[in-house]
Amino acid sequence: MIRVTENLKQVSDLLAISSAAAARDPATVTLLAVSKKQPLDAILEAAATGQRDFGENFVQEALAKIHETADLDLTWHFIGHLQSNKTRDVAKNFDWVHTIDNLKTARRLAAQRPAELGPINVCLQVNIDAEPGKSGVAPGDVANLAAACSDLPNLLLRGLMCLPAVRSAADDQQEPFRRLRILFETLQQEHVNLDTLSMGMSGDYAAAIAEGATIVRIGTAVFGERQQ
Ligand SMILES: *Cc1c(COP(=O)(O)O)cnc(C)c1O
Repeated sequence: MIRVTENLKQVSDLLAISSAAAARDPATVTLLAVSKKQPLDAILEAAATGQRDFGENFVQEALAKIHETADLDLTWHFIGHLQSNKTRDVAKNFDWVHTIDNLKTARRLAAQRPAELGPINVCLQVNIDAEPGKSGVAPGDVANLAAACSDLPNLLLRGLMCLPAVRSAADDQQEPFRRLRILFETLQQEHVNLDTLSMGMSGDYAAAIAEGATIVRIGTAVFGERQQ
C-alpha cells in the first residue's frame, strides 16, 4: 500500500520549511511529482489531492499515463534522456521538456510541436559536474545553445536543469546548485524571460531550494520505491 497522500503532505510541509529557511515564499517552488515506474493508481491518488505537475522519463510508459488521465488537466514534464526518434511523441503530448542538451533535438521538437498546443516549455540540461558520459550541455556551451533555442518557433526557453553527481553531506550538495544558479543569473541578462531552475530530488531538495530552485523533481519521497 503506497501512502501517496500522506507522503505528499509531508513533502510539501518540508518544502515549506526549506523555503522559509531560505527566506523564500513557498509558492515560488513547484513540486514536480516524478511518477516514472509508478502505477497509474499512484498518479490518480496524487491528482486527487490537487497535485498537478508530473514528471516522466520514458516516452512509451508516459504516453499511456497521459492518455488515461487526459480528463484531469495535468501538466506533464519530460525529464528523461530524449532520443531524437522520440521527439514527435514528446512534442505532441508533453507541456515541458527539462533535458534539452543539443540543438538538433531542440530543432526537431520545435518543428514537430503542433502550433495549436502553444509553445512547449524547455529547460537546458547542464552537465554541472562535467561527468563523463552524462547527458547535459557543458557549462561553457550553455549561452550558445540558449541563444539558438530562443530563436526557434513553438518552443519557449524557461531555464536550466541539472542532475549533479551524488554528494551525501548537505553542505556539499549546495555547491553544484550554486554554480547552476550563477550560470542562470548570467543567462538572465541576455534572456529576460527565464524563470525556471529545475534542480533538487528526494535526497537533496533542501540544498536546491536554498540555491533558488523553482521546480524540485521528487519521486521516491512521494511515491515510494519504484517498480522494476
Ligand atoms: C528519477 C528522477 C528524479 C526523481 O528522483 P528521486 O530520487 O526518486 O526523487 C528526478 N529527476 C530526474 C531527472 C530523474 O530521472
